[in-house]
Amino acid sequence: MTRPMSASSDSRLARLPATAGVASTSIKLIRDIYADARALGRPVMSIELFPPKTEKGEATLFERTLPALQALRPDFYSVTYGAGGSTRDKTLDIADAIQRHHHTTTMAHLTCISTPRAEIERYLEDARSRGIRNVLALRGDPPQDPEAGRRNEPDFEYSYQLVEFIRRRGGFSIGTAGFPESHVTCTEGRHVDWQRLKAKIDAGSDFVLTQLFFDNDDYFAFRDYLVGELGVEVPLTPGVLPILSREQITRFAALCGATLPPDLISRLESFGDDATAVADFGVEFASRQCEALLAGGAPGLHLYSLNRADAATAIFKHLGLAGRS
Ligand SMILES: Cc1cc2nc3c(=O)[nH]c(=O)nc-3n(C[C@H](O)[C@H](O)[C@H](O)COP(=O)(O)OP(=O)(O)OC[C@H]3O[C@@H](n4cnc5c(N)ncnc54)[C@H](O)[C@@H]3O)c2cc1C
Repeated sequence: MTRPMSASSDSRLARLPATAGVASTSIKLIRDIYADARALGRPVMSIELFPPKTEKGEATLFERTLPALQALRPDFYSVTYGAGGSTRDKTLDIADAIQRHHHTTTMAHLTCISTPRAEIERYLEDARSRGIRNVLALRGDPPQDPEAGRRNEPDFEYSYQLVEFIRRRGGFSIGTAGFPESHVTCTEGRHVDWQRLKAKIDAGSDFVLTQLFFDNDDYFAFRDYLVGELGVEVPLTPGVLPILSREQITRFAALCGATLPPDLISRLESFGDDATAVADFGVEFASRQCEALLAGGAPGLHLYSLNRADAATAIFKHLGLAGRS
């Protein structure tokens, strides 16, 4: 959804219990998670985290946030990757530590823009050697300094090339990003952007996680076009961000091109400076949004947690999904 933060390097994660403690059966390919859930008629619930910037943030994530999230029994966690690879090691460290410590499947995000093939290969090998079996294959945003991209002689221009590359190497379940309102830089219209998503799926993506949006009709139009017109069969899972503050959501929406509907803006404005009222409303709005998405046939939900457990907990509870087995 958003750019992950850069992280410090330290050995705290290494002090968590060793890989030997992981029941190998608890770490799954995400395409199998979706297939099993579909057979059982239940939604796949995933939670996105970013690598904390500081040691204190990491301690909070592992000592408070993750234990609270684990009580919800999500199907998997995804861990973001910093723009230009700034959290490369940290993404894998966090994903690995969650699998070792909490025995829950993780997915490592990976961007390819301005990254040489050899570096991508090293990342995938590192992920594989740590038992990380799922990757979200992304292009990433172009670097602010265009010279940086040129200096690195990138081997990949678009994410479908990364998907193809990972698929050829084998061993991973691959996810890709979808945009119900079309990608913010796509000037040719949403159907063209969605046809390009079809190309990523044809290249080997097993599932799609979407950018955040606030009007479910955008998701349903996206889903109906991909399934009905383009014959897509992989899960298209909506990404939902619970609003935490007015300033933050305005910034995020502008960054990723999500539309804030006028009635949502006026509702947020009606709370004035009451931050608690905004956050309570954010949870209520997201809960209703999630409920309607599942009722409309979404295969699951991907929650942008911003490394907090409170909103995700309230949403799972609202949906009657907290702690399900
Ligand atoms: C669920 C999710 C998680 C994310 N996680 C991260 C993260 O961890 N780190 C991070 O840096 N960013 C992340 N992002 C943001 C993402 O990297 C940006 O939105 C990026 O600008 C596009 O990535 P993409 O993989 O969709 O690119 P692409 O699929 O390559 O598409 C990018 C643009 O190129 C166009 N395009 C695609 N193929 C072609 C073609 N053949 N010819 C011409 N144009 C084409 C598309 O229409 C689109 O406008 C995430 C986004 C989502 C939805």
